[in-house]
Amino acid sequence: MKVLVINCGSSSLKYQIFDMDTQDVLCKGLVERIGIDGSVLTHKVPGKDDYVIETPMKDHQVAVELVIKAITDPVHGVIKSTDEIDAIGHRVVHGGQKFAKSVLITEEVKEALVRCTDLAPLHNPANIIGIKACEAAMPGKPNCGTFDTAFGMGMEPKAYMYGIPEEYYEQYEVRRYGFHGASHDFVSHRAIEIAGLDPEKAKVIVCHLGNGASISASIGGKCVDSSMGLTPLEGLIMGTRSGDVDPGVMQYLCHKLDLDIDGILGVLNKKSGVLGLSGGVSSDFRDVQNAADNGNKKAEIALEAYRYRVAKYIGAYAAAMNGVDCICFTAGLGENDKLTRKEICDQYLGYLGVKIDDKRNDVRGKETLISADDSKVKVYLLPTNEELKIALDTVKIIEEMNK
Ligand code: AMP
Repeated sequence: MKVLVINCGSSSLKYQIFDMDTQDVLCKGLVERIGIDGSVLTHKVPGKDDYVIETPMKDHQVAVELVIKAITDPVHGVIKSTDEIDAIGHRVVHGGQKFAKSVLITEEVKEALVRCTDLAPLHNPANIIGIKACEAAMPGKPNCGTFDTAFGMGMEPKAYMYGIPEEYYEQYEVRRYGFHGASHDFVSHRAIEIAGLDPEKAKVIVCHLGNGASISASIGGKCVDSSMGLTPLEGLIMGTRSGDVDPGVMQYLCHKLDLDIDGILGVLNKKSGVLGLSGGVSSDFRDVQNAADNGNKKAEIALEAYRYRVAKYIGAYAAAMNGVDCICFTAGLGENDKLTRKEICDQYLGYLGVKIDDKRNDVRGKETLISADDSKVKVYLLPTNEELKIALDTVKIIEEMNK
């Protein structure tokens, strides 16, 4: 079975084709600057040169048509026609409370997604456009949706309710949702498998440390808590996002800076995190580390604050689960930066019996046990694979449909 995975952003579209018999990626690509000058598609096939198409793309419909051109191209393509695609799996950012698992996309599902737009105004419209563009370009093919928020639906009210009047939950669905769900789901289940833990009882903490960052706690693969909230702004300090902030800061800065709430949210989303803390050095941790190594004090504090926040959440989640069997690091920073992993574990997690093996930790992007044999908690580097999770869920839905 071949599955095309689509991840639509407001002006971008990422895609991959999986051969699900082997789970091999046949090709992947990225379309950038959709609807603006300089639109470009970069198509990658393992072992071949990149195929780049630079042409105006006024909307996602045109972008999807170009993706089809690239994947069926006689020289650079990997299939003869879209007849070879069995199904399309879409990443959808916000499914509200309606979707606790991946689903076949129907008219009713699309209407529900439109209703969730208020909750993710930047992301859901792009996801819906991507789905419609695929339906138009490949009529009759099943489209499935995997939601960033689905994993968080495992949380109990004590974890997802904010301490505000409950009528806001009843009326407007204001609650903690948790994002990066496909990643947390994939990595936590992989951890149970690879560490040989009890599939019903394993207590796992996943640290998804990328440009966006979040952390989850799960028992037996079911989410107990997740650091992102109603929106992906809450929780850890990120590349440009603040994470947790006293809401009073917003009112105070609104007055001081003569900004409205949207202006302040712009600051918290785009100018904060390690970028803001480092005094504008960069949102990329490599640059911030470089600056810190060269004596930049603000950059040093930014990194210390970042690691401290991750460690605080790990401590909170170990308490929430009354223990932890396994801690996993994933995503750009989690998979590539041995210093971040080591500092978090060595500086703050000794009381849990966590012991990192420096030799094992000297690794990038590869599934590895990085804790010592006598560590009380197993610590892993586990590369995330959100696209594979989407493809696997898509296959499951199609197989159930065909039963
Ligand atoms: P992601 O959002 O998962 O793609 O992660 C991107 C982030 O990972 C980048 O902004 C970098 O800060 C970080 N990153 C990637 N590679 C490295 C590396 N070798 N060392 C430190 N940080 C890295």
